[in-house]
Amino acid sequence: MKFLQTVTKSLSTAIYENPNMLSNYLLDTSDEVQIKKYTHVRLSEINHFCPREYALGYFLGLEKQSVINFAEMRQMELGSALHFWYQNYSKVFRNVLVGYWYCLACEKVRKHFGFKPNTRCEHCGASPKATVYHEYMFRMDNPYRVVGKVDLILYKDGVYRFGELKTLVEAPQEPKPEHIAQISAYAYFYNFVPKDQKLPIEIDTSVVYLCYVPKKFSYRNPLLTFPIKPSGKGIDLLIERVKQFSESVKTRTLPAPLEECIREGFMKRRCYVAKVCKKFYEDGKTQI
Ligand code: SF4
Ligand SMILES: [Zn+2]
Repeated sequence: MKFLQTVTKSLSTAIYENPNMLSNYLLDTSDEVQIKKYTHVRLSEINHFCPREYALGYFLGLEKQSVINFAEMRQMELGSALHFWYQNYSKVFRNVLVGYWYCLACEKVRKHFGFKPNTRCEHCGASPKATVYHEYMFRMDNPYRVVGKVDLILYKDGVYRFGELKTLVEAPQEPKPEHIAQISAYAYFYNFVPKDQKLPIEIDTSVVYLCYVPKKFSYRNPLLTFPIKPSGKGIDLLIERVKQFSESVKTRTLPAPLEECIREGFMKRRCYVAKVCKKFYEDGKTQI
């Protein structure tokens, strides 16, 4: 009994002396598993997605499982918290942010499109304090199988445009290619959304806004906004890849493996279906 008490005491002393151990003991810092399906290309991942991986995943009925460790999860949560803050509480976007709104009390989308309503919920009568921004989402099968969720719809000088909020440690001096690709894809693919799922206002897709909010304090660059024109070779290549996946769902013809994967013996990318991809390639199978 005495031995057990000594062990318990020294263990708890160690925990209380180490802030990391105490966090792990006191709080839930376990890994999280994210599951993603291969039915539609998520436009937030368009810059690095592989059409062959999607086609294989789609036809084999697979789900991509990724383990997110606590440090990565914390980083993502910080980004989500900042998004929520800027969409709902900060004055920064108050005069330009429009869209749909959602009542947390009755869990319904408000019957209102535009600036944040300051009236009670039409469905349940809850205070407007329970109303939060509802990001516009589109999903389609034809002509492209894509899904996208737009952070911001911004209204200025009579024009509505899409905006994307990026929270990085420091704001970059110029827009990052993967962010240009993502926001350009929203603008490009929105033009193909069926009319009944489009927004009730006209979006000017010739320009989109990329807003960087640094997580690190900065006097010089507290928030940087870049105008992006969705065009150019980079986006053309990505559209082509989305087209390959969308076509393969109809024809069951597999897109060819990426050059880099062939070169590196299918080991280069962190790919969930690399083994199957390699096998199909080595067997010369192009149909699934
Ligand atoms: S191994 Fe490479 S080419 Fe094959 S599916 Fe994965 S990412 Fe695509
Ligand atoms: Zn309500």
